[in-house]
Amino acid sequence: MAEGAAAHGSVNPWVALAYLAAGVFFILALRGLSSPQTSRTGNRFGMIGMAIAVVTTLVTHDLATLPEIGIAMFLGGVVGVTVARKIAMTSMPELVAGFHSLVGLAAVLVGWAAYLDPGAFDLLVGDAISPVSKVEMGLGIAIGAITFSGSVIAFAKLSGKMSGSPILLPARHVINLGTLAAILVLTAMFAHTPGMEANLPFIIALTVLAFIIGFLLIIPIGGADMPVVVSMLNSYSGWAAAAMGFTLGNTAMIITGALVGSSGAILSYIMCRAMNRSFISVIAGGFGADDSGGGDGEPREQRPYKQGSAADAAFMLEQAEKVIIIPGYGMAVAQAQHALREMTDILEEKGVEVKFAIHPVAGRMPGHMNVLLAEASVDYDKVFELEDINSEFAQADVAFIIGANDVVNPAAKTDKSSPIYGMPVFDVDKAKQVFFIKRSMGGVGYAGVDNDVFYMDQTMMLLSDAKKMVEEIVKALD
Ligand code: NDP
Repeated sequence: MAEGAAAHGSVNPWVALAYLAAGVFFILALRGLSSPQTSRTGNRFGMIGMAIAVVTTLVTHDLATLPEIGIAMFLGGVVGVTVARKIAMTSMPELVAGFHSLVGLAAVLVGWAAYLDPGAFDLLVGDAISPVSKVEMGLGIAIGAITFSGSVIAFAKLSGKMSGSPILLPARHVINLGTLAAILVLTAMFAHTPGMEANLPFIIALTVLAFIIGFLLIIPIGGADMPVVVSMLNSYSGWAAAAMGFTLGNTAMIITGALVGSSGAILSYIMCRAMNRSFISVIAGGFGADDSGGGDGEPREQRPYKQGSAADAAFMLEQAEKVIIIPGYGMAVAQAQHALREMTDILEEKGVEVKFAIHPVAGRMPGHMNVLLAEASVDYDKVFELEDINSEFAQADVAFIIGANDVVNPAAKTDKSSPIYGMPVFDVDKAKQVFFIKRSMGGVGYAGVDNDVFYMDQTMMLLSDAKKMVEEIVKALD
């Protein structure tokens, strides 16, 4: 590292100013991303901020030769563009978890690189690394390793490579707390032990334990708590980046990491509140999770239900005065949002009032449904959050459930052994008529549990791919 931010404490004022500007753009980006209408502008601000930060770092640091940087950027760019083009919207959460794991791994590698060659990172005071730098290094490696292994497990759970239900080890809280305490003690011993030969075992042990605790913290989390994990790992990846910023003496990374870390923590908190979960329980790794929970593999009862056709649905929708649409993960899989918007337009032309009800964890990532409806140009005034619309089901003629399941499951209110117990759900049973679009009676929602709504008197099951069914309803309405 050369001038610029290289020598910790003697930062070139121009570099500091450029990094500050990048930080301001990142704050504007977060502000923009808080609403679908301003999200594109937010994204642009983020890109400008990142361009400033990258260019400043490249011109002020003697990091590598230009061809080396060019090749690295080209390879990274090709991978990024290919993944972004190929990825289905429904696979976004696992992609995000996968990317978080890379941030964690990068933090571990940076920490280790700084330890092995402190001179290159300008970390030497005399001929040793200062205890403060070693604390930063130890924490950076620990947070990075937790982020890495936690994100790998989240990736496996979200992509279905591993069961989504909680895996609860006996005495897991004691093991987790003990491991966390051991990491802190090892960091302190590492910081206070001079000489590489003497402190090497501490840094190795803390790295290994941090990889293990990341794994242990995420395996007990399952079912309805996975959305919180996604945003929590987002937060961890931010703190890992901030820790790297300290090791590298890079203020832009500290600012960006802190922004990602704190916004991820706030989002996790908001999601916990929406899910009626305790924040501490979830971050402590399924604290309080009921060992009896989980619906995977349970035999399904055969119960009578009513099935209807697109023509039946169209007929009843036309007669309705008020329709509330509840989209979920299946709408995203089927990409039914455009057809749904067409159906909404026709119904409104016929004088029917149509509203959309969005659950905070509908789909597979925070804001998933909002993004899809915005993509289909659904007017944002018609889209309502759970707490703003739940009381309106009593006045609705039709609750139109399309590809949602867990978010309308009354077991969340009544069945203490259910993995979704405690999560607020839409009161669809209060609507006069319920239409439920899904492909088959055998399919379950993310939490893997049966749903009493299928069997209610006023429910009509519309068994089909969501897009196909809505297109047929549109035809019948026309
Ligand atoms: P669910 O996952 O509960 O249910 C999806 C429904 O869609 C199923 O009934 C499925 O039935 C149906 N479906 C799937 N594909 C199609 C298709 N092509 N056409 C028609 N129907 C289809 O969805 P929800 O949105 O209600 O719930 C979200 C769940 O995901 C919650 O448990 C939440 O905790 C969890 N989660 C949420 C995250 C987030 O951040 N939002 C992240 C991780 C998990 P069938 O197979 O029979 O078609």
